[in-house]
Amino acid sequence: MSILINFKICDNAKECNGVAVCPTGALYWNAEKKSLSIDNKKCISCRKCEKNCQVSAIHVVRDEKEYAKIEKELKEDPRKMSDLFVDRYGAQPIHPAFLISDDKFQLEVLESDKLVAVECFNDDSIACLLKSISIKRLLGDYPIKYRKMMISGELITKLKIKKLPSLLFFKRGKLLGKIEGYYASDKKDILVEKIKKIIG
Ligand code: SF4
Repeated sequence: MSILINFKICDNAKECNGVAVCPTGALYWNAEKKSLSIDNKKCISCRKCEKNCQVSAIHVVRDEKEYAKIEKELKEDPRKMSDLFVDRYGAQPIHPAFLISDDKFQLEVLESDKLVAVECFNDDSIACLLKSISIKRLLGDYPIKYRKMMISGELITKLKIKKLPSLLFFKRGKLLGKIEGYYASDKKDILVEKIKKIIG
């Protein structure tokens, strides 16, 4: 048995759900290479990593024939990470892969090595889905990790957020900047300019 990872749609981060559930350490975060790595000798084929990957990027394969088949499929997969950004800024969350709760904020955002865009919202801040802007159109050009978080009062105060939804940008635990409030799709250019200013 071997593991194959589709890095075209995997955000290759140390906080990978598969790493968190792997009982043997076969799937692990390689700090030196800054990448998910696999030690096939340790793998017991429990498939926990595969089941817990929300974007189905992890494949546990049985034999060489299946390995060759999946490897070919992954090579030919035309998707990239931003193709999963079906969510829209200021609207109801759609893709569960990007949804986190307050208790994951530390691990998923502050401790991440990557540039992270975290969209904070609460039930009151959900604006019209049709008028809102697709996250792919907003962030698809940047090597960025995107998360959407239903935020609590405590964190709103801590992050000094005045208006929801809010789009916050973090790098290695540091808040680079934030954009507050809802922007309809005809205001996309303003929003993109603000993003560029924050992340360069
Ligand atoms: S199949 Fe099980 S043991 Fe193997 S890498 Fe995945 S979680 Fe770890």
